[in-house]
Amino acid sequence: MSDRLLDVDGIDAAYGQSRILRDLSLSVDRGEVVSLVGRNGAGKTTTLRAILGILTPTAGTITFDGEDITGYPDYETVNRGIRYVPEERQAFPDLTVDENLRMGQLKSGGEGTLSLDEVFELFPRLADRRSYNGSHLSGGEQQMLVIARALLGRTKLLLLDEPTEGLAPQIVEDVIEVVETISEEGVTILLVEQNVRAAMAVADRHYVINKGQNVFDGTTPELREAEDVMERHLGVG
Ligand code: ATP
Repeated sequence: MSDRLLDVDGIDAAYGQSRILRDLSLSVDRGEVVSLVGRNGAGKTTTLRAILGILTPTAGTITFDGEDITGYPDYETVNRGIRYVPEERQAFPDLTVDENLRMGQLKSGGEGTLSLDEVFELFPRLADRRSYNGSHLSGGEQQMLVIARALLGRTKLLLLDEPTEGLAPQIVEDVIEVVETISEEGVTILLVEQNVRAAMAVADRHYVINKGQNVFDGTTPELREAEDVMERHLGVG
């Protein structure tokens, strides 16, 4: 089995007439945490949508686990173990934490990456709140809930879209810890972030994109050294 789990090779993608991604490439090896960073509107979410199959690339290929999945619909990519946690944390507001999690279990027929007991062990905050309704959780708790729910499915690759967005700094720390914990559980993660500090805290390697194109890739120390990239494309001076 090769180390490579995901290979996005030179994809273009558009919404109608507006071309968003141009010759974009990235790869993720098994067990890695890789970040995709860039300014607002750079095309990060669009890249995740193309991988998941919500949007079909007009050029290039996407290979997952050795199989060409370019243009596969989302139910096919989900079946193969790709899970997307969107920016708008979609916990069911009227269901309890427990019920929300069981929805994730349903999809996997009980053979998820984690069991419900393991989820409660890894996320004690959710265990404490298992009878709370989704609508009564804080932003950070909702983020944990949707990540945990994805892990109750058979997840080989977790696509996390700006998990720290809108969270207070202390809660950002908690989310970073959660990402670290699930990575230690062996889950491979592609993390989209605008918060480059958060991305550097958890990811092994980074892809910086601008206007739908690759502008940099490298390790955390390499990105830290690339001051021009940090300033021009990430607004970090
Ligand atoms: P953000 O942090 O704002 O989510 P992003 O890097 O994820 O930024 P995308 O959401 O991928 O960026 O958006 C890239 C470009 O595509 C933007 O110019 C955006 O306006 C445009 N776009 C996004 N979704 C659609 C859509 N459904 N129809 C048309 N254009 C879209």
